[in-house]
Amino acid sequence: RFIAFEGGEGAGKTTQAVMLADALRAKGIRVDVTREPGGTAGAEAIRNLLLDPPSGEHGTGWSLKAEALLFAAARADHVEKRILPALEAGTWVICDRFVDSSRAYQGGAGGLGDQAILDLHQFGSDGLRPDLTILLEVDADRLGRRLIERDGGQADAIGGRSAAYHHKVASRFSVLAQADRTGFAVIDGSAQPHSVHQDVMNAVKPLLAS
Ligand code: C5P
Ligand code: MG
Repeated sequence: RFIAFEGGEGAGKTTQAVMLADALRAKGIRVDVTREPGGTAGAEAIRNLLLDPPSGEHGTGWSLKAEALLFAAARADHVEKRILPALEAGTWVICDRFVDSSRAYQGGAGGLGDQAILDLHQFGSDGLRPDLTILLEVDADRLGRRLIERDGGQADAIGGRSAAYHHKVASRFSVLAQADRTGFAVIDGSAQPHSVHQDVMNAVKPLLAS
């Protein structure tokens, strides 16, 4: 089983991924918790390139298409070397972000379009989809407060992207979830972690039964 957590910065994805993994392990299920961009040595190296972009006489950071390719490249390595082998061994994989982040950020907010991201994903990762994607939604005010507590309000590790960009990311995630109601569970991430976790467990229940 393959479960992805999605949502903007500060939505609680990392916390909920760990809580879900602990709950599944308590049921005797083998679980691998991982994240994107990252999860293998190569993909973590690409993550560093994305979050701490080089700068020089032609500017800082990446062109939008290069950025999308780097996310897709990191994912391809992660899928081939870690996610697929785990799934084949019967281990559950819980991933903090997956391709829907690329669709919401680079495809939606960045403006590359959904099809371009899906094409890259088809090439890079054979179009692998999670069995369930859990979208954690948190209203903008609360997100702002969480991010200030976490890292002094640094909403954007990549840098230079506006609040409007992050607004588009959030609305793009909702659109993706509405378009695929069976693949997504949309959960209010505003509540306390233990109460969000209950909603997550309810969403995962059908996967436990089958
Ligand atoms: O969720 P996490 O903190 O790992 O994300 C790292 C950074 O990468 C965040 O700033 C997020 O905005 C960015 N990101 C992105 N496009 C993606 C995935 C993450 O811009 N497809
Ligand atoms: Mg996180």
